[in-house]
Amino acid sequence: MVDNNTITVTSPLMPDFDEFVKELKQIWVSKWITNNGDFHKKLETALAEYLKVPYLSLFTNGTIPLLIALQVLKIKGEVITTPYSFVATTHSIWWNGCDPVFVDIDPATGNIDPQKIEAAITPRTTAIMPVHVYGIPCNIMAIKEIADRHGLKVIYDAAHAFGVELKGESILTAGNLSTISFHATKVYNTIEGGAIIMRDAEMKKEIDFLKNFGFADEVTIVGPGINGKLDEIRAAYGLLNLNHVNVAIETRHKIADAYRKALKPIEGITFFEDIPDVKHNYGYFPILVDRENYGISRDELYLKMRRQNILGRRYFYPLINTIGTYRHHPSAARENLPNAYQMSESILCLPIHQDMSDLDFQRVIDCIIK
Ligand SMILES: *Cc1c(COP(=O)(O)O)cnc(C)c1O
Repeated sequence: MVDNNTITVTSPLMPDFDEFVKELKQIWVSKWITNNGDFHKKLETALAEYLKVPYLSLFTNGTIPLLIALQVLKIKGEVITTPYSFVATTHSIWWNGCDPVFVDIDPATGNIDPQKIEAAITPRTTAIMPVHVYGIPCNIMAIKEIADRHGLKVIYDAAHAFGVELKGESILTAGNLSTISFHATKVYNTIEGGAIIMRDAEMKKEIDFLKNFGFADEVTIVGPGINGKLDEIRAAYGLLNLNHVNVAIETRHKIADAYRKALKPIEGITFFEDIPDVKHNYGYFPILVDRENYGISRDELYLKMRRQNILGRRYFYPLINTIGTYRHHPSAARENLPNAYQMSESILCLPIHQDMSDLDFQRVIDCIIK
């Protein structure tokens, strides 16, 4: 819980309470509380339609989909990925017994730099796992071209990319598979939740088995599956939340525009502009703090905001390559990742969400200006 005076970086999108209670009543009456119930089926259909994707499989969170995507494609050996992400991206590679290989990012987008991928490919490489950071699309054409040339699979961690479109088409259909998170902190949430997006029905079937321990029917277990199922209560919550997500994104859009207008004149503060042909979701509003020109460092600004009860977040800091066992890999060396370090040390995500008041917005701006 946070007090009324605190401005959080995000706020969960929540359905109308009374509407939710009505759905709960149905679940109580039916006593069907999990395992592919009516709400689960309805939410899969509704989300596939909303996101403009052919098939989608719901999950209990956004991390199991990463694990299963690597499993179902039988990824072994080395997986090329980005150090500039949430830890779940690399953790999923490790949990599959594979070695993550870090490639530097493009400073224009924060995403893996396709031009640096090829140099990281070895005979052990089997896949690339890029991330659409802040929902900014990766260079999917360049990545596809490299993957095709080297016979590699591509799994997008699209956790931030809810509703993001490129030239009117969902970016969630890029690569062999894409995964998404519906965690409370994301643009759209089912409290905890997630999905894998796939292009064919056969793949959906296989993934649906894997998320239910490998059960194809009562007696047939097709392989070593896991439990990744989403329950009926969160599916019902998710269905109701889908009614509000467009308005939430519109509100975020307005706040992003207002931030850009207010921050433009400030020396030493830069931000990402909207990309033509891209429908953004405004899940984050990251700024880059240039100490030389702004006067104080990112960390000093971050702490100054905290003292005024404004909770910005340093997404993504620290870099994934600096933690745990990952830091011992040769690709984790600082010299290999200069752009990732530069961004990680200057990034600050400002509060942006559907419940943000004009007053709160002004408090954030005042704190950055003064
Ligand atoms: C949120 C997130 C995840 C994990 O999602 P959960 O639903 O929290 O398990 C994975 N990757 C990225 C980039 C994320 O931001």
